[in-house]
Order: sequence, then structure tokens, then C-alpha cells
Amino acid sequence: MISYLGLGSNLETPIEQLRDARLAIAKISGIEEIAFSSLYRSPPMDSRVQPDYINAVMAIETDLSPLKLLAVMQNVENEQGRVRKERWGARTLDIDILLFGDEILNFPELCVPHYGMTERAFVLYPLAEIAPNLTIPKYGKLTDLVNRCPLDGLERLSDVI
Ligand code: ATP
Ligand code: CA
Ligand code: CA
Repeated sequence: MISYLGLGSNLETPIEQLRDARLAIAKISGIEEIAFSSLYRSPPMDSRVQPDYINAVMAIETDLSPLKLLAVMQNVENEQGRVRKERWGARTLDIDILLFGDEILNFPELCVPHYGMTERAFVLYPLAEIAPNLTIPKYGKLTDLVNRCPLDGLERLSDVI
């Protein structure tokens, strides 16, 4: 199954956090990297004072179940020092499961497609870079979502990881 992951960090040298996450994810048995977007910088979603985020989207091929995939991604977050305080608070690493094939999943702990992805520039733009022809279950064509989504300060970086 092809799954798309949204990665974000705004603490402890975010670019290194994303590089480490990419390597850690690719090493997990049952997961293979298919593609990794450019890095993007985005302002935080809330008005609280916190540093800008670095974001990217990763495509993987996996034979793990969706809940197992969530568990291993939370493990990667924890390994990189994620401390869970308030939602949307600053963090070393966030990994959201954006899509899992064309499945619609509504587990108590896992909803896919990820609810926020349809209107978040820092998800849609990197996703469109690596999968421009995607159709999102329930929401339609990715290009239509991108066209409706303002950049909201999103900036593509030239850094490569
Ligand atoms: P947001 O979900 O708005 O991006 P967040 O990423 O900061 O906010 P977290 O604290 O990382 O939120 O996650 C809260 C809970 O969301 C997790 O414990 C997880 O069980 C649940 N969750 C539901 N759907 C998903 C998904 N598709 N990917 C990752 N976590 C999910
Ligand atoms: Ca998130
Ligand atoms: Ca999350």
C-alpha cells in the first residue's frame, strides 16, 4: 500500500529532525521510501508565539496495517524527543498519516485521510510536488484542493536532506 506522511518540526534544528526522521522511517521493516518532497517553511497555525515550522511529505510503500503504521510513527516521534503538551504546541517532530492508499479509516485513534490536510498549505503543496495526480478519498482532486488553498506564508526551501 502506498501511504503519504506529513512531517513537521519547529524545535531543535528542524531540518535535522526531518532528516533523522526520514532515515528512521526508511529503516523500519515493512516500509520502503518512494519519494520525499522538498522542504518547506511555514508559520505556525495558531497565534501563539512559537518558531516557524519546517515541513515535508514522504511517500512510502508499506505492508504494515494502518494502526501498526501509526504506532511505529509515534515511536519515531518519541525517539526524537516529542513531548506531548498542548495540541499544535511546538514540537521536535510530528508525523501525520495523510493517506493510506485510497482507504477511508475512522478508528478512534486514526482518521484517514487526515482531517487537516485538505486546507493546510504545508501539506498540500509538498504533496502535490511528489504526487500531482492524486485523488483524495472524500475530497477529490489534489490539484483542485491546491488551487483553492492560499500559500499562507509557505516557502519552499532549497536545502536538500
Ligand atoms: P493535528 O492532528 O491537527 O495535525 P497534531 O498533529 O499536533 O494536530 P497530535 O498531538 O500529533 O496532533 O495527535 C493527536 C492524535 O491524533 C494522536 O494521538 C493520534 O491518535 C490521532 N490521529 C488521528 N488521525 C491521525 C492521523 N491520520 N495521523 C496521525 N495521528 C492521527
Ligand atoms: Ca499534525
Ligand atoms: Ca500528529
